[in-house]
Amino acid sequence: MKHSIPTRLAHAGRTSATPGGQPVNPPVVRASTVLFDSVAQQREMRARRDSERLFTYGARGNPTNFALEDMVTTLEGGYRTRLFPSGLAAAAMTILAYVRPGQHVLLPDCVYEPVRNLANGFLRQHGITTDFYRADGTDLDAKLRPETRLVYVEAPGSLVYEMCDLPALAARAHAHGALVAADNTWGSGLLYRPLELGADISLMAATKYLGGHSDVMMGTVCTTEAAWAELNTMSDAFGMTVSPDDAYLVQRGIRSLGARLAQHQAGALAVADWLLKRPEVAQVFCPALPDDANHALWKRDCHGTNGLLSFTLRSRAAVAPERFVDSLRLFGIGASWGGFESLAVLADMRRARSVSDWSQHAIVIRLHIGLESVEDLLADLDQAFAAIGQLDANEQESVHADHR
Ligand SMILES: *Cc1c(COP(=O)(O)O)cnc(C)c1O
Repeated sequence: MKHSIPTRLAHAGRTSATPGGQPVNPPVVRASTVLFDSVAQQREMRARRDSERLFTYGARGNPTNFALEDMVTTLEGGYRTRLFPSGLAAAAMTILAYVRPGQHVLLPDCVYEPVRNLANGFLRQHGITTDFYRADGTDLDAKLRPETRLVYVEAPGSLVYEMCDLPALAARAHAHGALVAADNTWGSGLLYRPLELGADISLMAATKYLGGHSDVMMGTVCTTEAAWAELNTMSDAFGMTVSPDDAYLVQRGIRSLGARLAQHQAGALAVADWLLKRPEVAQVFCPALPDDANHALWKRDCHGTNGLLSFTLRSRAAVAPERFVDSLRLFGIGASWGGFESLAVLADMRRARSVSDWSQHAIVIRLHIGLESVEDLLADLDQAFAAIGQLDANEQESVHADHR
């Protein structure tokens, strides 16, 4: 009988037998050098290690990291996984593993901003051309070129959570001879499963929900069997590895991933519903909301939502979004998300998008709803709305004053 993913994650990563009882968790194995019994054994291990996962040197991983790789493979439903020092490193190495100078990469307009910057900077400087396609994927055919090697996907997208029809998009990319790589940080493997929807490669910032406690940086890349060799070779060539202590932290985080995501979802849905009723709010972005433009695809392809939601203010006062976030007391002001704590950040959509036009509602407030009680979070949001309540009235007054 095949168990559900949360059940398998609770039991994965057990250690191999040693005399006596067994710990529930794998040990942290700190190692650079690995010793062999003989030159012949060392030679044999080195000959086999490109095709098999063997413990031969710290730069190629260790038993703690291998246990985490297997947990991520379970989450993603893929063939095998490699670990990277950050989510951004995982995205960058994915592109470098599959794309050569002279080839072309298509990225979605909703891509995580540092990946956009990587495309416009480093990749272009190294002869890899890039274009951005609409976040819903509808202009993909027009943008595919003979030299397009990789179609990068991020669904739901960063900041306002656009969805694309991944199975349809993957079919078009594959017919064109291109591979599909998905950034699955939002879905974290439980909420969205790109490899089952047609992607060849799925990457995650484990920094977010997998770690879950705002204390570790890591990226993961899981592929299908067919796409594995290129990623594996490139990871070894660049000496990509992570500390076993960090691997242990992420593995510990994954044990409670399902329970945490359910709690984040409940909080985010409650806050989203509350925001929808506020007169100060212009628009709420969360694909789980029935009125969200991405709701139908979210419902078809996702298995729930997480703690993220964004909104825009009706206020015409330019200082309103910043004043609002500064007025929050429980929500921290800081980058990243996926930890146990609530966060608020401002995002400038004019910088984060190049295909779609956001000039009319440029500043979005993104919330990450943590594990605090919803009542306390709503009270905090309520007092922040009160703090900006006078801004528009004041602005009207100053406009009148200027005319006097
Ligand atoms: C945070 C994030 C990353 C990068 O992860 P880091 O570990 O912070 O480098 C990549 N993609 C998405 C969608 C993210 O939200």
